[in-house]
Amino acid sequence: MIFHVLTLFPDMIRDGFQTSITGRAVEKGLLSLDTVNIRDFSVNKHNRVDDYPYGGGAGMVMQAEPVYLAYQSVAEKLPKKPKVLYMSPQGKVFNQRMAEELAQEEELVFLCGHYEGIDERVLEEIVDEEVSIGDYVLTGGELPALVIMDAVSRLVGGVLHNEDSAEFDSFHDNLLEYPQYSRPEVWRDKAVPPILMSGHHANVEKWRREQSLIRTLERRPDLLENANLTKQDKKFLAKLKEV
Ligand code: SAM
Repeated sequence: MIFHVLTLFPDMIRDGFQTSITGRAVEKGLLSLDTVNIRDFSVNKHNRVDDYPYGGGAGMVMQAEPVYLAYQSVAEKLPKKPKVLYMSPQGKVFNQRMAEELAQEEELVFLCGHYEGIDERVLEEIVDEEVSIGDYVLTGGELPALVIMDAVSRLVGGVLHNEDSAEFDSFHDNLLEYPQYSRPEVWRDKAVPPILMSGHHANVEKWRREQSLIRTLERRPDLLENANLTKQDKKFLAKLKEV
């Protein structure tokens, strides 16, 4: 998977991505990061890439041409048009299902805005989808790009040590994950649930599934509507709702 990021702050993307699990995946060649500094494509002798908004108003707007040239520098090297995602508070709100879909792509281009955003005309020309990471406004698209790249990366084969880990993560099946425990067995008078020490694999699985259902019902009941529930799950939930 190759991530191309069009940004005014490439260091922020590189520093954020090339550490920990994603950083190791880059070293192993499972992921590749290509940052493109939009400022390198400035068409202004002062190296500017923003200007005042037509019609007046606060703030500056990123100009169309440098963004377009930065995009072209990536697109011209590729055999087909890559999917371009514009990070925007006005976009579709990102979720695990979108991460799963994006993980199927071979190349993704992330366009990060700054200031008041980007001239609409270049967005119309190159962007396939506008994606938001939530209903709040950030100073730039770099953190949203890192969030999405991270979520997508974990789904790329070989990036996580244990191939199965993503399968049980929260949201995978529209259920939240069960609680996790590690050593020591007793921490400040709090013991690990005994079933996890039993060595009885089937009972552990049953307990974890039930904990997932309890958590989802308590914290995100909206998810249950689209969860893949067995007859046994439904019976268990019905009992919980009676209490
Ligand atoms: N004036 C814009 C508006 O009201 O829609 C907001 C611009 S914001 C200050 C600057 C840039 O940050 C945006 O162009 C976008 O790339 C990014 N951004 C801000 N909040 C975001 C969010 N919730 N999700 C994704 N990108 C965001």
